[in-house]
Amino acid sequence: MKRSNSEKLYEKALEYFPGGVNSPVRAFKAVEGAPLFIKKGKGPYIWDEDENQFIDFCCSFGPHILGHNYPDVHQNIVDTLENGTSFGAPTKLESDLAEIIISRNPYVDKIRFVSSGTEAVMSGIRLARGYTGKNKIIKFEGCYHGHFDSLLVNAGSGLATFGESSSAGVPQKVVEDTIVIPLNDEEALEAAFEKHADDLACVIIEPIPANNGLLLQEKSFLLKLREMCTEHGVLLFFDEVISGFRVAFSGAAEYYDIAPDIVSYGKIIGGGLPVGAYGAKKHIMQSVSPDGPVYQAGTLSGNPVAMAAGIAQLTVCSQPGFYEDQEARTKTFVESVNAHAKEKGYDFSLVTVGSIFWMAFSDQTTIRSAAQINADMTPFKKLHKALLERSVYVGPSGYEVGFVSHVHTKEVLENAAQQFKNALDAVFS
Ligand code: PMP
Repeated sequence: MKRSNSEKLYEKALEYFPGGVNSPVRAFKAVEGAPLFIKKGKGPYIWDEDENQFIDFCCSFGPHILGHNYPDVHQNIVDTLENGTSFGAPTKLESDLAEIIISRNPYVDKIRFVSSGTEAVMSGIRLARGYTGKNKIIKFEGCYHGHFDSLLVNAGSGLATFGESSSAGVPQKVVEDTIVIPLNDEEALEAAFEKHADDLACVIIEPIPANNGLLLQEKSFLLKLREMCTEHGVLLFFDEVISGFRVAFSGAAEYYDIAPDIVSYGKIIGGGLPVGAYGAKKHIMQSVSPDGPVYQAGTLSGNPVAMAAGIAQLTVCSQPGFYEDQEARTKTFVESVNAHAKEKGYDFSLVTVGSIFWMAFSDQTTIRSAAQINADMTPFKKLHKALLERSVYVGPSGYEVGFVSHVHTKEVLENAAQQFKNALDAVFS
């Protein structure tokens, strides 16, 4: 596979950006070679600067549920652009997108658009604290909620440990109010509530944890979480930046039929442009400025071009049968690859939910907590290379999940499954 143009561009980018990139995982630090510089995308495919074509399962880490450059999304962006890009004043498009979301979503009466997932979660946490008048938050080991200070905490395992930041530049004081516990562990949850419930503003969770492998939770654990939050007057915050509009229109909340108190969205909601949102029932959202005392603002919030992209994308997603079809195609693909891995006795399986999959180097198809992940990423590194050589692009980290889009047709996925099988044979032979 020719990579010389990407290599040259990477050398140049290294002069300008830390690690040559504007977001760390893009740097190919965990896999071989220079990052591929992508020139264009269409449907399920991307092309790099060396003219290599790939079936794309990264899908910009989630936003492209309709694939790249979907005609309706493209057209709505272009049409809106004709009228300008940003006004610092309300537009009709913001309400149009909000209506598409809220009219189908029983958990949210009001939302606020922001420009990224990080911003959505950060603002939602401030709202939880402002609304409850409490300070502490519980998060789960292995869940990622964006790069703002108080949630950049992984911390060790054990019951109700106080957080320790996983980034330099975050004062210890800032993370002292973040309590980190393992996923899917009812005992740890009970212990943390017992100790901290009096000053607990919210519990934040990716209801489908998909940033550290795909750590599917038992529904009984999520129900327990809901129950304990209700009992203690603590808000349950579902971070649906990945799962929102991905596993069902109203996200994991709809998928599991569990109502959160606050929810954050990102990625799919913006059709590939920078958008995030947080929302809740009216009595909670009333705390947000200018109605209430919780301040939050943004020059480009609700940007018209981004709203247009979101409107076009979510209109397609809201069609009957959309998510059933997504899940069915993904399941066929995953089962085909898994049958091959099983037959050959490889320590490998694709773990899946909805149209998300994760390459687990284990023969288990359910892994529920960070501690259960096989920490040896050497086989992933080999698989990543073998897939690129077979024209399949997945995110350059063994902890990232893959995404199947609406235009990853049965035929595209059959081809992809065959390439996965060949790549696995190359890795394990
Ligand atoms: N929350 C979750 C669950 C995410 O997956 C991400 C991004 N991967 C974020 C928050 C942060 O979103 P962004 O990168 O748009 O700031």
